[in-house]
Amino acid sequence: MARINLLDRSVYELIAAGEVIERPSSVIKELVENSIDAGAKHITIEIKDGGSSFMRVTDDGCGIAFDEVPTAFLRHATSKVQSADDLESIMTLGFRGEALASVAAVAKVEVLTKEADEQYGTSFKINGGDILEHERTGCPDGTTLIIRDLFYNVPARQKFLKRDVTEGNQVQGLIDKLALAHPDVSFRLIRDNKQVRSTGGDGDYYSAIYAVFGKQFAGSLIPVEYSMGDITLTGYISSPLFTRPNRSMQYFFVNGRYVRSVICLTALEEGYRGSIMTGKFPACVLNITMPPELCDVNVSPSKTEIRFADEKQIFDLLNFGTRNAILNADNKREIKLEKQQPVSAPVAPQPLEKRVEAAIRTAPQEGFVKMSSEEYKEKVAKNLDDDRMFRIREKEVRFHSPLSGIQPRKTETSFVQQHIAEPEPVKTQENTSAWQKSDFAPKTAPIAEEKEENTYKFITGASLEAKEQLPAVTEQEPVQPIKVIGELFATYILCQCGDEFIMIDKHAAHERIKFEKKKTELTTSSQLLTESICVDLSPEQYDALSGNEDKLSDAGVDIILHDGVRCEITAAPSAFAGEKVNPSDIVVRAADMLASGNDNIIGEIYDDLLHSRACKSAVKANDINHPDELRVIAEEVWQNEKIRFCPHGRPVMVKLTKQEIEKYFSRIV
Ligand code: ADP
Ligand code: MG
Repeated sequence: MARINLLDRSVYELIAAGEVIERPSSVIKELVENSIDAGAKHITIEIKDGGSSFMRVTDDGCGIAFDEVPTAFLRHATSKVQSADDLESIMTLGFRGEALASVAAVAKVEVLTKEADEQYGTSFKINGGDILEHERTGCPDGTTLIIRDLFYNVPARQKFLKRDVTEGNQVQGLIDKLALAHPDVSFRLIRDNKQVRSTGGDGDYYSAIYAVFGKQFAGSLIPVEYSMGDITLTGYISSPLFTRPNRSMQYFFVNGRYVRSVICLTALEEGYRGSIMTGKFPACVLNITMPPELCDVNVSPSKTEIRFADEKQIFDLLNFGTRNAILNADNKREIKLEKQQPVSAPVAPQPLEKRVEAAIRTAPQEGFVKMSSEEYKEKVAKNLDDDRMFRIREKEVRFHSPLSGIQPRKTETSFVQQHIAEPEPVKTQENTSAWQKSDFAPKTAPIAEEKEENTYKFITGASLEAKEQLPAVTEQEPVQPIKVIGELFATYILCQCGDEFIMIDKHAAHERIKFEKKKTELTTSSQLLTESICVDLSPEQYDALSGNEDKLSDAGVDIILHDGVRCEITAAPSAFAGEKVNPSDIVVRAADMLASGNDNIIGEIYDDLLHSRACKSAVKANDINHPDELRVIAEEVWQNEKIRFCPHGRPVMVKLTKQEIEKYFSRIV
């Protein structure tokens, strides 16, 4: 072994700097966080060549006193922590006192800083840790730090820098996160002399999101406000209708600090369970405000890892906060009608006779309520005005459905009412008699009542307790009745409610109705295995299962843990008998869930099974259904706000308001 040396300051500074400063964005992160801690309201960030040649951060914060500037560049020099006790309650972004020292060790640094009540400011230069200048100078209040030639003295590090554009993008992504976390600060980012980001700093989260991600993203958001004790969740999540292919748009902040947390993202996704398709991800900008002593941010030098004292509480906060927000939001998808611009100057109307003939020629024949051209002409002869006649004709085409045999009335509403009041069953189909036995028929025993009688609750244990804490979603307003006015393509139920036109996907809706019903009926019995199955677990999985055997048993899986690595499965859920599901997969999934703080094991284990059973038993697109079947589905969808997405997350309904329709037809502007 070589002799043990005490390292030179310059060497250990380089080693220590390596932990904090990895690339230009790490420098910017430290400098901007210092500006925020200094109370700045305006921060301008300028970079050139991705930051490697030039970075400048200018703020209007409190500034640094002349004598203290060199101290600020010493390792472990900070104004934010005095004693060990202070580490328990950190509310500033910095506290380790090593950023400026680290930056100065690996770059050429210039500082201009002035406190508001001082007459002069300070100019300070330090290269690779060597002080070159420390003078009084005239400059504005606040602090400007200029960093040149990052890693000029550490060529090994330089080699690991990516292309300028990649490094610049990293900086931009970082500024976005900081801007989202601090809506009360106005940020400006200038890349190679071009301003690429500017936020207003008006304190409003929504405007910060709008400034960073633009109108389209901001428009898809649902507000979240939820608290549990002295922990609060605020921010925005994406509507389940706007999903993403990955998790890149999930932003979590704790006390204004961007954090990466498996607990947070699992809880968020649990909140979306049943509202979003598998393989799709929600987006969010969520802030957790909590007493600082209940979380530890001093986990890694970059301070993005976080530990929570009570992980379960954080999980519940996000899960229920998200779920509640989704329920509260109006998740009826709205159709946006693009108003068509006239392609050419309006043409003088043709004589009525010609228009009638043309309309008859071009009208689709299939699915059209039969009326000969003679009959049609007769109507004209009866002095129906042109408009009315064309409306009727269009309506006939649109609303014709397998519920045929009904003659259109003169006005749209009476036509509609006839569908409802005198439904004429389709004769030849077996569905007609089958439906009376089916779950559509029991008008006398509505589904809602059945649910109440059922004592079994789907979520058990701790999550059930927490679920009961959910505040009432909204004051129960009487729901306006929905009227079915027809069916389209044997797939979509067409409905009207007040001034809204609603289209419901009958399969998606019925599938969800069935799924919710099956969930309330679920009992989780277990069946002994003739031969127990053993599965080896990682230490984290083993830890997660030990002490939670009861939760698995509630879900119908009996296990015995052995030797810190092995799990013996002695009984599996009877519901899976005959299904191609391996009990060891169930156990591993449950272990992973528990390890990430999610204990909704029954949901995780049974949801897929219930989905596929609900899917199989639901009505399908192109099925011929009795009008009453459609009515029951529509009413259930309308009254039960759980029925907004099919179990795979496809939307169940879309709507269009009368006003939008009128706008489209230029009846109003
Ligand atoms: P930390 O932020 O962990 O305290 P730093 O090395 O980042 O450590 O900064 C050292 C000190 O320099 C800070 O505690 C603060 O007092 C001072 N400082 C750094 N940047 C600024 C700034 N932009 N405005 C005012 N003071 C600053
Ligand atoms: Mg700092």
